[in-house]
Amino acid sequence: MRIDLHAHSTASDGTDSPAALTAEAAATGLDVVALTDHDTTAGWEAATAALPAGVTLVRGAELSGRWYGDEPTVGLHLLAYLFDPGHAPLVAELARVRRSREHRAENTVALLNADGIDVTVPEIRRYAAGGTIGRPHLAQALIRRGLVATVDEAFKPEWLGRRYRLAKTDIDVFTAVRLVNDAGGVTVLAHPRASGRGHIVPDTLIAELAAAGLWGVEADHTDHSAADRARTRLLARDLGLRVTGSSDYHGTNKTVRLGAFTTDPLVYQDMISTATGAAPVTGS
Ligand SMILES: [Zn+2]
Ligand SMILES: [Zn+2]
Repeated sequence: MRIDLHAHSTASDGTDSPAALTAEAAATGLDVVALTDHDTTAGWEAATAALPAGVTLVRGAELSGRWYGDEPTVGLHLLAYLFDPGHAPLVAELARVRRSREHRAENTVALLNADGIDVTVPEIRRYAAGGTIGRPHLAQALIRRGLVATVDEAFKPEWLGRRYRLAKTDIDVFTAVRLVNDAGGVTVLAHPRASGRGHIVPDTLIAELAAAGLWGVEADHTDHSAADRARTRLLARDLGLRVTGSSDYHGTNKTVRLGAFTTDPLVYQDMISTATGAAPVTGS
């Protein structure tokens, strides 16, 4: 059984539509794929409707979390699975973060404009195609102007990585864990040691999150070295957290392929028997 619990569609910053993502899951020979767009459940319906026979969809999201207990604050990504998408407090927080992403995109465009780079907000919105706006959409504008060649290059410090990097108002990570649990879902801390994506999440913070109801941690991820993976597994064992592996597929916005990393079927069984907010759906 091949299970990939982390993938993005055009509902956020992936390049496959939700339907195309499920087709790709079937073509890659996955049995289970999770749709985890940033701060939105907008792709759930289309992915469910298009599900190929034999492929099981785990509906989820990747929440933009932040720990405000230190200076500078620590940004972290929290995967949330099988929660009730109608849970009002969670819906409100997701909407607030999506608005913050819009504002960040507008302010980043203003910064670029001030340096004579003529990108526009409507253009960025067009690349987002109605989905959650992310920095890869800003990267597309830089690529089209020949300023950079790839999304990875656009994320370097001289571009969106630092010079044109602005903060968004994320969800307090402890609030996020509580809201997802209240909505019947389970939470997994995404790529905690992926230093290229921001800060490494301190072990002490992961321990506090485990005590606050975090369910699991993503160990096998393309941005983790072998040492990062081993260390994450050890920490998870000490803290009683489940361990997942997943591709974090973004279509052509990143080089990693769907199914490049997978999750143990026993961990998946544990997840679906724990979550009460939504059930996995299998295509017939
Ligand atoms: Zn992430
Ligand atoms: Zn992701």
